[in-house]
Amino acid sequence: MNSDKWIRNFVDGAFVDPESGSSFECIDPATGRAHASVHEADEALVDRAVQAARRALDGGWADSPVRERAALLRRAADRIEERFEEFVAAEVADTGKPITQARELDVARAVANFRAFADIVAAAGQESFMTDLPGGRQALNYAIRKPLGVVAVIVPWNLPLLLLTWKVAPALACGNAVVVKPSEETPSTATLLAEILDEVGLPAGAYNVVHGFGGNSAGEFLTAHPGIDGVTFTGSSATGSRVMQAVAPRVRPVSFELGGKNAAVVFDDVDLDEAIAGLTRSVFANTGQVCLCTERVYIQRAIFDDIASGLVASAEQLKLGNPQDPATTTGPLISHAHRRKVLDYFALAEEAGAKVLTGGGVPDVGADLRGGSWIEPTLWTGLTNTDRAVREEIFGPVAALIPFDTEEEAIALANDTEYGLAAAVWTNDLRRGHRVAGRMNVGISWVNTWFTRELRSPFGGAGLSGVGREGGEASLHFYTEPTNVCVQL
Ligand code: NAD
Repeated sequence: MNSDKWIRNFVDGAFVDPESGSSFECIDPATGRAHASVHEADEALVDRAVQAARRALDGGWADSPVRERAALLRRAADRIEERFEEFVAAEVADTGKPITQARELDVARAVANFRAFADIVAAAGQESFMTDLPGGRQALNYAIRKPLGVVAVIVPWNLPLLLLTWKVAPALACGNAVVVKPSEETPSTATLLAEILDEVGLPAGAYNVVHGFGGNSAGEFLTAHPGIDGVTFTGSSATGSRVMQAVAPRVRPVSFELGGKNAAVVFDDVDLDEAIAGLTRSVFANTGQVCLCTERVYIQRAIFDDIASGLVASAEQLKLGNPQDPATTTGPLISHAHRRKVLDYFALAEEAGAKVLTGGGVPDVGADLRGGSWIEPTLWTGLTNTDRAVREEIFGPVAALIPFDTEEEAIALANDTEYGLAAAVWTNDLRRGHRVAGRMNVGISWVNTWFTRELRSPFGGAGLSGVGREGGEASLHFYTEPTNVCVQL
C-alpha cells in the first residue's frame, strides 16, 4: 500500500480494526496516486452490521420520539458544519472534484439534507378518514407509520456525501437503522459521517458502514442478506437490475435512483447568454458526472450556430487543474477505467460521423497531474437519436448538439429514450415552458434552470432511470411501513 491512512468499517458503534481480511487502495483521481487503504468487509462483517442494526431498532431506536430524532439530525448538521473542511478535504481526495464545488455543493447539501429531513419529519401529520357504515354508524381510519426496519443504503461515487445523506437523513428521521455501502471509489465521507453520528448520540448499530465492491463483495452480501427490510440504491441502471434480482426472492421494497440520458430543449425565443450559461453548467458540472447532466441538446434551427459557438467558447474557458485551486472549475473523471469507457464513446461517436466541435481527447494538465484520469470537455454535432452515443449514458463532460424545427419534434426527440430522469427547457415563452416541461417523460423537468432542487419535492426517475420517489413526503413513505387502524365508533 502507498498510504499509511486506513479507512475502516464502522459496525455496532465502533470502527473495526483491519487486522485481517483484504483491503484495497483509494485513489486520488486528480493524480492517480493512492491516498488511503480501505478495509474490505467480508460476508461475516456485513452480517454483524445487519445484526447490530436490528439490535439498535429493538433496543429502542425504532420507538424513539420524533422530536428526539429531529433534534439529533439537527445536531448532526451542526457538527458537519463544525468539521466542514475535513469533509471537503475527504471528498476532494476521493473524487478530485474542485474544492469550490465540494464546499458549495457536496458538503453544503449534506448539511441541508439533515436539516430538511429534521423539519419534514417534525411537521409530518397522519391521514385519517371517517367511513360511513350502514345504519348511520361510522368508522375512524388512520395510519400508524412504523420504521421500515434495517435499510441497506448503496450509493455511487459522483456526489458521495450528498447522495448518502439524501437517504440516511430521512431513513434515520423515520427511526430506521441503516447499513451503508459507499462506492469503493469514494469511501471517506461515509466513514467520517460515522464519527459525527456517534458524537451526536445516535445509538450503536443505527448507522453502520461496510466497505467493498458490488458482486461477491459487500454490496451483494448486503442486498442478499435475509435481515434487510428494504434497499435504497443510487447507481447505474444495470446494477439496479441486479439489486432488484437479489431482493426479489424475499420481496423487499426498493427505491432506485438510476442513470439518465437527459435532454435540454432550446427554443429560438431564448435569451442566448442565459441559455449558454445554463447549458454549460448542465453539460459540464462535476465533469459531466451527475445523473442529471445534459448529454443531448436539441436546439431550434434558427439559433443552432449561435448556441453551438457560445457553448464551444464556454467549454474552452473551463479551467481544468489542481482541485485545491479555487479557480479550478473542472476536475478529472473518477478513474482510468471510467475514462476508458468515455473515450470508447468518443471513438464510437466519431465512427458514426460526429463532428468534434471541441475536445475529444485527453488534455495535458501538467506533470503533477499527468497520472490522473483527465478528459477534455467535448461537444459534437452530426449525430442523431439512432446513434449509440446519443442513446446510452456516457457520464462524462460531453453532449451531442442536434437541431430541430418544431415544438412537437423537440418533444418527440427528447422523449425518444429508455431513460426518464431529467429535462431542461430553455424558452422566454412562459406558456410554452409550462407546456413542454409537462410533456417530458421524466422525474424532474426544469424551465430556464438546471439542478435547482426543492428537498420537499418528489425526486426520482421513470423508465430505466428508477423506481419510486424520494424527497419530502415521498421519503417518509418509503422509509416507513403503515398500519391502517380502523375503529368502529
Ligand atoms: P454503479 O451502479 O456501478 O455502483 C453504485 C453502487 O452500487 C456502488 O456502491 C457499487 O459498489 C454498488 N454495486 C455494484 N454492483 C453491485 C451489486 N451487484 N450489488 C450491490 N451493490 C453493487 O454506479 P456508479 O458507477 O458508482 O455511479 C454512476 C451511476 O449512478 C450512473 O449511472 C449515474 O447516472 C447514476 N446516478 C444516479 C443518480 C440519481 O439520482 N438517479 C444520482 C447519481 C448517480
